[in-house]
Amino acid sequence: MASASRVPICRTVSEPITALEAALERIPDAAGRASAVRIKGGVASLVLEVGGLSAAGRTALEQSVREALEAVEGVSEVRIVLTAEKTERTIIAVGSGKGGVGKSTVAANLAVALARAGRRVGLVDADIYGPSQPRIMGNSAKPELAGKQIVPTSSFGVRMLSIGQLVAPGSALAWRGPMAASALGQLIEGDWGDTEILVVDLPPGTGDIQLSLIQKWKPAGAVIVSTPQDLALIDATRAIDLFRKMDVPLLGLVENMSGYACPHCGEVSDPFGSGGAEAAAKVMAIPFLGRVPLTLTLRRASDEGVPPAAGESEEAEVFAAIARRLLEGLSG
Ligand code: ADP
Repeated sequence: MASASRVPICRTVSEPITALEAALERIPDAAGRASAVRIKGGVASLVLEVGGLSAAGRTALEQSVREALEAVEGVSEVRIVLTAEKTERTIIAVGSGKGGVGKSTVAANLAVALARAGRRVGLVDADIYGPSQPRIMGNSAKPELAGKQIVPTSSFGVRMLSIGQLVAPGSALAWRGPMAASALGQLIEGDWGDTEILVVDLPPGTGDIQLSLIQKWKPAGAVIVSTPQDLALIDATRAIDLFRKMDVPLLGLVENMSGYACPHCGEVSDPFGSGGAEAAAKVMAIPFLGRVPLTLTLRRASDEGVPPAAGESEEAEVFAAIARRLLEGLSG
């Protein structure tokens, strides 16, 4: 008697579940995201994993799951619990010992080259006191807020956030260390959605922002930009030491402004020398990622907001090769 009464109860429980699962299967974006699907007394419930989706993507997915389940016979209410496992994001810090060596130019073009290599890339302009990425990336769009998070804006296939998009030029200069560190936090913890690699353009030197980034967000590695001159290299060594002391893997050194490529004949001369950074990388046992020549194209491109890495020039190939070496280093 008891077993006879159990059978129909099992059926009424399992049949709607099959229908719920079938309804979920018809939503491609929900694949692999739904778990703990249950129904009791007409109330359907499930857990939806929304990690890696943008705020808009989350809302859209939740909405389509809700509508699909409400349409299932026997369902009077749908309860959805959203969970977001933190997306594993690879943070790459781009640093230099001193200003003016082309760190921001390299960071921007590296980000574009990584995006062209098929990665989902974000660029954080952590140079709170002297943001230059809006100009280099031609992206001064005002970011919007999604809840408490800032939503990056895109150009050349790269999502970006810079304090330069948020406050008037020069106004961040008066900020004290903690305020600058909190601004950095807002940028790094923006709504980056499914971004895989976050390139962080650090301020020059070895100050509070660098320490904050390393301690709080633990970059997967650092890229150091230096010119071939000795002075820049001595400064670069200080930046390298900081990453070493804090156990951040050094992914490589980029030699920028390495030789001058004549815009008329293409011949490369070496007004500041070249190869200094490559030799230093060898001595310090750091991978050498490549040489970026000093060219008028690169200088003009920065002013015009069109990173050469997005085009088809020789410079684009230089950055593509640097990005390839970096990716090899990351996967190795
Ligand atoms: P940093 O971030 O190290 O202060 P920037 O990237 O802002 O340096 O570059 C400083 C200046 O040098 C900018 O005007 C930029 O356009 C120029 N620059 C950077 N790299 C090159 C290069 N390889 N060839 C020509 N000009 C360059």
